[in-house]
Amino acid sequence: MLELKEYSRILLHWAHENPRPMPWKGISNPYFIWLSEIILQQTRVEQGLPYYERFISIYPTVRDLANTSEDELLKHWEGLGYYSRARNLHAAAKTIVELHDGVFPSSYEQIRALKGVGDYTAAAIASFAFNQPYAVLDGNVFRVIARWTGVDVPIDTPGGKQYFLAFANSILDAQQPGAHNQAMMDFGATWCTPQKPKCTGCPFSSHCTAYLEGRVEGLPVKSKKVAKKERAFIYLVFRGERDTYLRKRLEKDFWRHLYEFPSLEPEVLPVELKEVSQLIEDHFPGLLPVKALRMSRVYRQTLSHRQVSGLFVEVRLLDESVSLPEDWVSIPWSTSLPSLALPRMLEWYWREKEMISSAPNLFE
Ligand code: SF4
Repeated sequence: MLELKEYSRILLHWAHENPRPMPWKGISNPYFIWLSEIILQQTRVEQGLPYYERFISIYPTVRDLANTSEDELLKHWEGLGYYSRARNLHAAAKTIVELHDGVFPSSYEQIRALKGVGDYTAAAIASFAFNQPYAVLDGNVFRVIARWTGVDVPIDTPGGKQYFLAFANSILDAQQPGAHNQAMMDFGATWCTPQKPKCTGCPFSSHCTAYLEGRVEGLPVKSKKVAKKERAFIYLVFRGERDTYLRKRLEKDFWRHLYEFPSLEPEVLPVELKEVSQLIEDHFPGLLPVKALRMSRVYRQTLSHRQVSGLFVEVRLLDESVSLPEDWVSIPWSTSLPSLALPRMLEWYWREKEMISSAPNLFE
């Protein structure tokens, strides 16, 4: 193993030789750094980049972000997934305006107290924007340290996290913590990658325990794999004379505050229209009589811990004078994608519906 201070020296030299320019690198605006960090959580850089650029252009200050409506914010976030990140951004921007007069806080504790900001993001903002000595610990850093040290303590246990954080802080260059953290993350993302790391020619190879002991592929170690839960929805696409209806998801569940068609969540998805008719009779007796017209294919969307299936059923309301639930929003059936924030699966369905309706008499 190397002397502790040698890690940072080699790392910073490596970063100098292997620059990885990004729009948010080298800036000290904590608001922009925060935006980039939140957008890039669980998102690939190529996917997050246009969102980052759009957000700093539409909301150039934290006050602009705080003053927007949640619906508008979610609409701009559409396609990035993990919508709780957007809602937390909004809440934290409001906190910064209310508690800090719109000035981004500079102390680690105050940054960490913002909604949606965990240890990693707080350390990133504190070190990148304010040059404070807090080591970042994300998936890349876990992997690099596990390989350097050969330590096989599972990274998803409290003890494991404690060990890796202590090591990350012990090698941090306190004079340039931002540059050190950035180099550490870039090294993990581009060089010491999960598959096919560039061990040949790596500046750490003669000191890297995993490489020297042939254990690179097996590190880091995780204690458990999270099984994906399956959820299945029937979306009722009510067709009135001109409109259909959406509602906002307010339940404490995924896709919270996004809009969806009124839905049912059966044990298993039906295969015949008459089963759907029965379910509607059971769950929406106030809307009768209705006629189930046709079913879509089953759409599937994979979320972090869930596999979601959706079956869309067009339903004709036979009596348009029935009173509809108050939280339903009417949307013209002929509209192109609504301006409301929708889950991806609903977007896919809506786009396909547009394509079908532009092919006259295909199904009638
Ligand atoms: S030698 Fe291989 S495993 Fe070790 S730090 Fe370098 S790239 Fe990573």
